[in-house]
Amino acid sequence: MPVTYNNMYMDLRAQLRHAGIEGATVEAREIVCAAAGKPREALYRDGALYVPPEIEREVRALTARRLAGEPVAYLTGEWEFYGMPLDISPAVLIPRVDTEVLAEQAITYVKTVDGCRVLDLCAGSGCVGLAVAKHAEGARVLLGEISDEALKICRQNVRRNGLGGRVSCMRIDAREKPSRQLGEFACIVSNPPYIPSGDIAALDVTVRDFEPHLALDGGADGLDFYRVIIEKWRDALCTGGRLYFEVGIGQADAVLRLMRAAGFGDIQIVQDTLGIPRVVFGTLYSDVFQKEAT
Ligand code: GLN
Repeated sequence: MPVTYNNMYMDLRAQLRHAGIEGATVEAREIVCAAAGKPREALYRDGALYVPPEIEREVRALTARRLAGEPVAYLTGEWEFYGMPLDISPAVLIPRVDTEVLAEQAITYVKTVDGCRVLDLCAGSGCVGLAVAKHAEGARVLLGEISDEALKICRQNVRRNGLGGRVSCMRIDAREKPSRQLGEFACIVSNPPYIPSGDIAALDVTVRDFEPHLALDGGADGLDFYRVIIEKWRDALCTGGRLYFEVGIGQADAVLRLMRAAGFGDIQIVQDTLGIPRVVFGTLYSDVFQKEAT
């Protein structure tokens, strides 16, 4: 029996709700729009139209994948971060709302520095660096990412958001000391992998079975990338430059101590909307500056 877009959407929403999916309303809409190749507004406009059989089949296929745990962003290939539309693939983490706190904090600082050079290490989809570039107008941003597949997504997102003039992408291994040719940055921002290896098995299925472990696994205690970035990338910051990290639950104090031991000052911890310490940032003072200050 032919079915209208509206009925298909309502039916899908009911199925997703029944499966306990919290964002059933939004996800049902996204799935129908993706299958039909329609923008959101068109779904309401075309609600009373009959759905062609091939689109109905596509919705069924996407629904089966969703019910098997695959996140909706991987089904539709898109996600929104800080008000920006982004291409997403299984090679990158789906940007989290928590990470908007990191972007917001970095933007506040970068806006105060004329022509600020910013490096986003472990850029993934490029979400943080792109948000910084969009909202801090003079900033020049380098998205550094080790995965070629993720870099492809970074490049697509630079283009999609029209930021090619000020944002570039480069294959960078955050665990290696930077080459001098990269120059100095006034701001390094990073949401590195930070889940302790032993905790990965217990993650939610939608994360564990679908998101890239390369972007999640932070080593035995989850702090490997903080240690190595603080040690090896410190010299890529100019004096007075700032390092901004997103951290996992319970990691803020340990990261603060690592930064302090490496000579960072004015270290601050910022909470996310749930009150979880989520961002740690500090300023790199030169040894001379520190001696004068004490
Ligand atoms: N916040 C992500 C999660 O909870 C992990 C992100 C990361 O390791 N950088 O799944």
